[in-house]
Amino acid sequence: MIPFNKPYMTGRELAYIAQAHGNGHLSGDGPFTKRCHAWLEARTGAKKALLTHSCTAALEMAALLLDIEPGDEVIMPSFTFVSTANAFVLRGATVVFVDVRRDTLNIDESLIEAAITSRTRAICVVHYAGVSCEMDAILKIGAAHDLPVVEDAAQGIMSTYRGAPLGTIGELGAFSFHETKNIISGEGGALLCRDATYAERAEIIREKGTNRSKFFRGQVDKYSWVDAGSSYLPGEITAAFLAGQMDDAVAITQRRLALWDRYHTHFESAETQGTLRRPVVPAHCEHNAHMYYLLLPDLEARTSFIARMKALSVQTVFHYIPLHGAPAGLKYGRCGSGMSVTEDISDRLVRLPLWVGLEEHIDQVLEACDRSLSV
Ligand SMILES: *Cc1c(COP(=O)(O)O)cnc(C)c1O
Repeated sequence: MIPFNKPYMTGRELAYIAQAHGNGHLSGDGPFTKRCHAWLEARTGAKKALLTHSCTAALEMAALLLDIEPGDEVIMPSFTFVSTANAFVLRGATVVFVDVRRDTLNIDESLIEAAITSRTRAICVVHYAGVSCEMDAILKIGAAHDLPVVEDAAQGIMSTYRGAPLGTIGELGAFSFHETKNIISGEGGALLCRDATYAERAEIIREKGTNRSKFFRGQVDKYSWVDAGSSYLPGEITAAFLAGQMDDAVAITQRRLALWDRYHTHFESAETQGTLRRPVVPAHCEHNAHMYYLLLPDLEARTSFIARMKALSVQTVFHYIPLHGAPAGLKYGRCGSGMSVTEDISDRLVRLPLWVGLEEHIDQVLEACDRSLSV
C-alpha cells in the first residue's frame, strides 16, 4: 500500500538528538530551541518566534494573548481543522463561521464584514493547503474594525503572500510541525509575533505565566508569577529533531513542489474535459506544496474513487467535516454567512499522497488515479 503520508527524515535528526543528550539540557529553551527560534525569525522576519508543543498550543496562546473572554466572537472558516475553533472556544468565545472561496478554499474575505458584530474580537484565517488567504483585504477589514488578525498557518511554512511569509502578516501566526506537515518534529508548533506588541507577554504565557525568560537573560534578578499562563514549550529533544528538519527546509519544499507539479500537469486534461477540478494557486501566492487535492463531481464519485484507489494499493483521504454542522460546532459556534461552498466542496475533495520519497511511486499513483477516474 502506498501510504497517504510518510514522515520524511533528513538523516540529521538522530545526531542532533545525541547532541542535545550530550548537552545535558533536556527541558525547553536550550540551545536547540534557540537555534529553531533564530531560524524561524530569520526566515519569516517575525519579531519573535516561540516553539510550542503543537500548532494547537500556539493558537491557544494567541487566544490568551488577545484576552478572549466568554461572550466574545471570533470569525473563522468552517472548512478547517478543529484546533482553529477550540483555541477560542476554550476561552469561552463563540466561533462565527464564514464560507470559503470557490478557488482557493480559503475564507471568503468578501463575507467577513457582514459577520462582524459588536462582540467580534478577532479574525482567525486559515491558509488552506499552504496557499495564502487574501491578506490585503483581510488586514484592511481588521484595521477598519480594530480587530487583530490571527493566521492559522499550520500548513503554511515556507509559503508567501505578495512576498511576505505566511504567519507574519497578521498580528499573530501559528505553525505546525506535526508529522503530517512539511517540516516536522512528531508533535510540534510555533507561535509567531509579527511585531513587539505581543512578544513579551507571549514569552510569559508560554512559561507558566512567569518572567523566567527575562530572568535567564539577566533582565530581572528573580523570576515570579506575573500573568496567567501555561506550559507550552517543547523539550530540547523535540527541538533537536526539528533543527535537523529546518536545515533541509528548502530542499524538502523543492521536492514537494516537484511532486505537486507532476500531479498538476497530469490532471490538466481531465480538468479541461470537466471530470475534476485542480487546486488554484493565485499568481501572488507562492505555495509550499503542502497538499495536492482534487475536487470530484460529487460525494458518490469521491467515495468510489477512494475505494478504487485502495483496491489499487494507494491510500487517499478526505477532510474536513465542516465545523458548523459538527456537534461541537452547533454548541459553540454559529454561521456568519451562508455555507454553500463549504458544504459543496467538503463532499467532493480528495487528497492524494504527497511526501518526500513518493518520487519512486508517483507513476504508479498517477496510473491508479487514471484507472480510478475512468471507470
Ligand atoms: C495540522 C493543523 C492544525 C493542528 O496542528 P497541531 O500541530 O497538530 O496542533 C491546526 N490547524 C490546521 C489548519 C492544521 O492543518
